[in-house]
Amino acid sequence: MKELTVQIKDSHIKKIKAGSPLLEKDAIQNTKPLTEEGMVLKLVDSQGTFIGRGYYGRQNKGYGWVLSRNEREAIDPLFFLGRIHKAIENRAVFFESNDTTAFRVFNGEGDGIGGLTIDYYDGFYVMTWYSEGIYRFRNWVIEALETAPQFRGLYEKKRFDKKGTYMEDDDYVSGERGEFPLLVKENGLHFAIYLNDGPMVGVFLDQKEVRKKIRDNYSEGKIVLNTFSYTGAFSVAAALGGATKTTSVDLANRSLPKTIEQFSVNGIDYDAQDIKVMDVFQYFKYAKRKELSFDVVILDPPSFARSKKHTFSAQKDYTSLLQEAIQITEDDGVIVASTNCSTFGMKKFKGFIDQAFKKEGFSYKIEETFSLPDDFRTIKAFPEGNYLKVVIVKKVKG
Ligand code: SAH
Repeated sequence: MKELTVQIKDSHIKKIKAGSPLLEKDAIQNTKPLTEEGMVLKLVDSQGTFIGRGYYGRQNKGYGWVLSRNEREAIDPLFFLGRIHKAIENRAVFFESNDTTAFRVFNGEGDGIGGLTIDYYDGFYVMTWYSEGIYRFRNWVIEALETAPQFRGLYEKKRFDKKGTYMEDDDYVSGERGEFPLLVKENGLHFAIYLNDGPMVGVFLDQKEVRKKIRDNYSEGKIVLNTFSYTGAFSVAAALGGATKTTSVDLANRSLPKTIEQFSVNGIDYDAQDIKVMDVFQYFKYAKRKELSFDVVILDPPSFARSKKHTFSAQKDYTSLLQEAIQITEDDGVIVASTNCSTFGMKKFKGFIDQAFKKEGFSYKIEETFSLPDDFRTIKAFPEGNYLKVVIVKKVKG
């Protein structure tokens, strides 16, 4: 692996020295010598003084990541082994848990290596690569994982553009081949997981605390609407928590069989639940026409989505999404408002909630808020990494 000395602009020295792990394009004095993804970069200031070591890997976020601030530390197999094993140690409670067998083992820059995440599904590890640059270190990461606890097999997801199209294989890397669906547990909920079937495996692990909360505190005897429901994980949590009925709405055709499957692996009769393959915005119209209302409405849209009739951007349209939800929520009902959009923070998100209730003429009470769970480790120096914002808010009359 080549090491290239790269000068950081004066304007960016302070931020990087303060611990920011992201290497922004604008921080680099001269990007011309960056010719090969995966190059190891020795970062220096205008005096040539060492600041850190990182790698070149282009993502939408930037041009790479700082990996070490210790001049004597090389970026070699031992570096990857050390960071990964440290991350595993930090998840000891998860590895020891009997009722949770799926969680994040390594969370990118939060665990010291931006551009790479590793998830664990009952003995199967899944590496997700966010740039061609980090992918160049693949063999060292694989070596580190093959000695990881309870290792059965290894899979990978590539989240970067590869020039030219080639048939995506089943993402298998090494060890045992899984049999899918793989059944995992999360705080006693069960999920059917497919590691061999595209980028999404069946559940988003970052919502574990919210699912638990919905099941334990917000579902008993309630009528629940789950919008942008994907495989219905929130509906499963609500049904297990004693919801009278759940309605799951997602426009993807696959969401119907996938949701039936998640209910089934939890021993829930899916016939007693409603699963609608439908545009959420159409569903709101339908619900108003039929005068339907709900005790709990869950909103978990993607940051950006385009359907036939609608373009949704969390940044621009979350307030109006909330307004639609408020209109079909019972008085004293709750809305679980979630977003993974990293272009705004919790304060602004609460602002959207405030605006929506004001526009609809209702008061509200924020019951609780959530950000990423402990296994999705983040660092203070990079608040953008803590993208998840969930607010449980009660609609109050008048
Ligand atoms: N809440 C889910 C994750 C949502 S992922 C969970 O907890 O598992 C986002 C989902 O929104 C995708 O499944 C996508 O198909 C769906 N989606 C995007 N735009 C939509 C729209 N306009 N109406 C309905 N579903 C939509």
